[in-house]
Amino acid sequence: MNRDLLVSACKENIFYKTSFINNDFDKLEKLMNLTLAANEKFNLTAIKDEDSFRELMIYDSLLPLKYFDFSNKTVIDVGTGAGFPGLPLAICSSGNFTLLDSTNKKIKHICSVIDEISIKNVKPVTARIEEFDNDNRESFDFVIARAVAPLNILVELVLPLLKIGGSFIAMKGAIGLEEIELANDAIKKLGGKLGIVKTDYLPESKEKRILIEIKKIKATNKKYPRQYGEIKNKPL
Ligand code: SAM
Repeated sequence: MNRDLLVSACKENIFYKTSFINNDFDKLEKLMNLTLAANEKFNLTAIKDEDSFRELMIYDSLLPLKYFDFSNKTVIDVGTGAGFPGLPLAICSSGNFTLLDSTNKKIKHICSVIDEISIKNVKPVTARIEEFDNDNRESFDFVIARAVAPLNILVELVLPLLKIGGSFIAMKGAIGLEEIELANDAIKKLGGKLGIVKTDYLPESKEKRILIEIKKIKATNKKYPRQYGEIKNKPL
């Protein structure tokens, strides 16, 4: 996907309800160049060419803006890696983003990127999600995660972070619908409820994407999250 196609696909498919600033696309190109350059030093993402990067890392990261309004909301991207989807979302929306990952070298990279591109609405944090939960329960309007863990595990890690009335958005590929079946019991036990589920396709490769919203309707019992090993071995 070249830059012109990225811009037109975003205008037609994602930002059709709201305006966006063309300058955002300069920042997105800088983000791509910085990430690909850093990739040569330490492995940040498996995607190494510009055309694939624009579609799989930029366009894909922006898809939630088609359905959810992050304006002036608190949003945490858990397991953000090199900053995806959090950095593209922060460039193109006015939400306040926390980008969390357990790997310090990735968070250090995000710190240098936000300095370089001057992204003001991002706070990078090195932590494990389940440990960050302790001091940050019910702190966020939105939690978002892409490629971090299966849904039945993710919900226990992230629902404690949401305010009541807030939403968790899980960004999934084609198997997303099967993951919902396996997570139904956990969602209920944690005070959640399935919200909207949207199927979409990337413009060039036509790969399927599923966005799953879990709404928090009740407080999550303080006994969650359990230790990570327990969550993984015995999902709720
Ligand atoms: N979200 C990014 C993306 O889509 O490009 C990165 C995905 S990468 C496959 C998964 C990331 O989740 C890794 O950077 C890993 O360090 C982080 N991660 C996995 N489990 C975590 C946990 N319990 N707490 C914090 N980070 C975690």
